[in-house]
Amino acid sequence: MPSGRLPVVNPWRFETNQATVQIKVGTYYSQVWTRAINAWNSKKVFTFKIVKGPAQITILPAQSNEASLIKQNFVGVAYVNHDNTKRITSVQLHLVNSLLKSNGYTTSQRVNVAEHELGHAMGLAHNPSKQSVMYKTTRYVSIQPIDVKNAKDLYSIPASQYFINLPATTSTTANKDVIANGAGDRLFKSPFETRSVQALVDPSTIY
Ligand SMILES: [Zn+2]
Repeated sequence: MPSGRLPVVNPWRFETNQATVQIKVGTYYSQVWTRAINAWNSKKVFTFKIVKGPAQITILPAQSNEASLIKQNFVGVAYVNHDNTKRITSVQLHLVNSLLKSNGYTTSQRVNVAEHELGHAMGLAHNPSKQSVMYKTTRYVSIQPIDVKNAKDLYSIPASQYFINLPATTSTTANKDVIANGAGDRLFKSPFETRSVQALVDPSTIY
């Protein structure tokens, strides 16, 4: 990371500014995610295409990992698999219902968290500004013009210039989003953790 400047995009993205999405959650959360997808699609910088079968992005309930997510106060998580050519190969997204519920998130606030996770899915990183849906403890803010600009910038680079020509190996990065409590944006845990599937969280990569 360049010193003195926080990245607003991660060094990975999809081939083009579109990806397929399979939603495998119940009726209520399907509506939450669909609202978030429609919000992004209306900005016309990235298109999430909902499909019935297997897709590049899969939206699932938190399952075997739920207990650890709750313990760390993570209301949402994006597991972004990417290879060393900088291509995103697959993404899994979760919202953690029990925490959203116990902390009184409204449906619109849950949509904001879903918009944030979808931002990670397309390659956006955390934005230090609270006036961004990619702020680390997003709850009250939806997609902002700066988020649209960052997504546009990320995908404006031609694929031939953006990607690295290497034999592909895959790793996983987890963007885990901490809860914002009712009183404001108090931070419970370090909000952004990068890890590969080969290693545990490296504290030096938290930012
Ligand atoms: Zn995040």
